[in-house]
Amino acid sequence: MKKGNINVSVENIFPLIKKFLYSDHEIFLRELISNATDATLKLKHLSSIGKEKIKYGEPIIEVKVDKKGKKLHIIDQGLGMSADEIEKYINQVAFSGAEEFLEKYKDSAKDSGIIGHFGLGFYSAFMVSSKVEIISKSYRGDDAAHWSCDGSPNFTLKKSKKKDRGTEIILHIDKDSKEFLEDSKITELLTKYNKFMPVPIKFGTKEEELPLPEDAEKDAVAKKITVDNIINNPKPAWTKQPKDLEDQDYKSFYRELYPMQFEEPLFNIHLNVDYPFNLTGILYFPKINNDLNIQKDRIQLYQNQVFVTDNVEGIVPEFLTMLRGVIDSPDIPLNVSRSYLQADGAVKKISSYISRKVADKLNSLFKNSREDFEKKWNDIKIVIEYGMLSDEKFFDKADKFALYPSVDDKYYTLSELTDKIKDNQTDKDDKLVVLYASNKVDQHSYIETAKRKGYEVLLLDSPIIGHLIQKLEGSKEKISFVRVDSDHIDNLIKKDDTKISKLSDDEKKKLEDILKEEIPSDKFTVQLESMDSEADPFIITQPEFMRRMKEMQQTGGGGGMFGMGNMPEIFNLTVNTNSELVGQILATKTKKKQSRLISQSLDLAKLSHGLLKGEELTNFIKRSYDIIK
Ligand code: ADP
Ligand code: MG
Repeated sequence: MKKGNINVSVENIFPLIKKFLYSDHEIFLRELISNATDATLKLKHLSSIGKEKIKYGEPIIEVKVDKKGKKLHIIDQGLGMSADEIEKYINQVAFSGAEEFLEKYKDSAKDSGIIGHFGLGFYSAFMVSSKVEIISKSYRGDDAAHWSCDGSPNFTLKKSKKKDRGTEIILHIDKDSKEFLEDSKITELLTKYNKFMPVPIKFGTKEEELPLPEDAEKDAVAKKITVDNIINNPKPAWTKQPKDLEDQDYKSFYRELYPMQFEEPLFNIHLNVDYPFNLTGILYFPKINNDLNIQKDRIQLYQNQVFVTDNVEGIVPEFLTMLRGVIDSPDIPLNVSRSYLQADGAVKKISSYISRKVADKLNSLFKNSREDFEKKWNDIKIVIEYGMLSDEKFFDKADKFALYPSVDDKYYTLSELTDKIKDNQTDKDDKLVVLYASNKVDQHSYIETAKRKGYEVLLLDSPIIGHLIQKLEGSKEKISFVRVDSDHIDNLIKKDDTKISKLSDDEKKKLEDILKEEIPSDKFTVQLESMDSEADPFIITQPEFMRRMKEMQQTGGGGGMFGMGNMPEIFNLTVNTNSELVGQILATKTKKKQSRLISQSLDLAKLSHGLLKGEELTNFIKRSYDIIK
C-alpha cells in the first residue's frame, strides 16, 4: 500500500477559476465593489468600536473607465492593505479576509453587513482582464503597496507612492471583454447589482440645475453645477424600521425598484426577522391580472444589499412569486444548486415565514378596513386562491379573509355566505348549494332566473377557481358549488318549485317522440320538466361534472386524466312542458311548421347559452328575418 498527498498546484487551478468560477462574467464588478464596500464597512466598524484612531469621514467608492488606456478603476477609501496583507489575503486563493474579520470580531461585527465569504471574489477580475493591479494603503499608515499580476501564478509586489488610505484596483480589460469599457455597460451593471449597496458609488459626474432664487427675473437661467453622479441609494427602505416609514415612503421605494411601472402597488408587507434566520424585505401586492405566467420573477433577492438574482424560486413560496419587492438575507446559501436550495432547512423556514407574514397582513387588512379590502379583492384574489390551493397552512388562515363576491357586488366570507343561504339553498341530501356564475354577460339569463327564485349567485371568475372549488368541496363536508347554467341547478329543490304538469302522460309521450326526431341525441340529452309557465320553454344546461373536467384540463389540473381531450360535449336540454310554446308545438298539425318551431326554440336556447356560432348563427338570423317579414 502507498499513501501520499495529491499534488494540487496553483498552475492548474488558476485557469479553472478564471473559466468556471462564475458562469456570468459580468459579476466581476459586483465582486470588486463588494470588496470595496467590505473594506469601507470594516473601517467603519473599527472606528465605531473605538479600536483605533480613525478619521472615518464620508468615504465613497469610485468607478472610472479609461477607454483609451483600456482600463477600469475601482477606488475605495476603506481600510486598505499593507504589502503583508496583500500577500496574505490576495496571494492565498480561497482565503477569505471577510471570514477572518467576522471570526475575529465575532460578537460586535455580526450586523456589520460584511459581504465576502469564500475568498474567491477577487479572482473573478481575471475573467475580464489580462492584467490586474492593486495599489493600496492601509489605514495603519504603513507604506503603500503595489501588486500586479497578469493572470499567471506569478505576481510582483513593490512599494507605491499612494498617499491616501484605501485601495485602487486597476483592471487591464482583455480584448474579448471590450464591452466593459463602455460607460453604458458599466452604468447598466452598477444599476443592476449595486443600486442599493450601503456605501455611495460614484460613476462620473452630472450637471445639476440650482434652484432659482424666489425673486429671480422672469427670463433668468438656472445656474448649472457639476456634481458627483452617485449610482446607488445606500439606505433603501427595507433596511429601515417599519415605524420610521410612511405609506408614501413605501410607494416611492416601489418606484425606485420598478421605474417603468406606472401603476401603484395595492399594499405592502414589511418583512423583518432576525431569529432563527436573518431576513428583511418589502413585498408589494401589485394589481394582478389573469395572465399568471408573465408576472413572475419580479421579486429581487439581495444579500447584504448586493443584488443576487430575480429568480426567487424555492425561497419564496410559489404562490407569492407573483408579488414584487425585495428580500434580503445573508442566510440564503446561494452558491449551491437550486434543487439543494429547496431541500435546505433554513430556506424552508424562510419560505414558511414569508407565507405566514403575508397571511397575517391580509387578515389584518381584512379586519381593520374591510371596505378597502373588498375593493382590492379582484386584484389580489388570484394570489390568495393560488395560496389556498398550494399551501395548507395558508388555506386554513385564508378561511377568515377569503372573499366570495356576489353578482351584485356583495362580498361574503365563506361562513357569512353559509349563513345567508342555509335556509334557502340546500339539495335533497341537505347539502348547501352555492350557485355561481363565471361570467355575468354570458350567463345573464341563467343568473336572472336564479335570482328570480331568490337564490344568491356568486361571481367567481378567476382562472383557477375550478381547482379551489374542488378543494373547498373536498374539505368542507356539506357544501357543493354549482354553476348557474349547469344541470345541478335542478337539484335545488324548494317545495313550491315542483309544479303540476299541464300535459297528460300521453301528451308527454307524444312530445318526446317529436323532439327525438328533431334534436340530435349525440349533442343533447332531452328531459321534460314541469316548471313555471313563465320560465323559458327550452333551457340548455351543461353537466357540472363535464364542464369542470374541461376547465381543469385547460388550467393544467387533473394531470393524469387521459383521453379527456376527446370527450364529446353533451348538453342537457330541459323542455318546460308548462310553457305556452311547448303546448303550441304539440298542437301544430303540419310537420314542417312544427319542426321550424323546434329548431327556432333550440337556437334561442343555444343563443342564451352562448352556443350559437358560425353557420348556425347565420342561418338563425336569416330564419328570424323571414319570420318577421
Ligand atoms: P472575500 O471577499 O470572500 O473574503 P475576495 O477574494 O473577494 O474574498 O477577497 C479576498 C480578501 O482580499 C478580502 O477578504 C479582503 O481581506 C482583501 N481585499 C480584497 N479587496 C480589498 C479592498 N478593496 N480593500 C481591502 N481589502 C481587500
Ligand atoms: Mg469579496
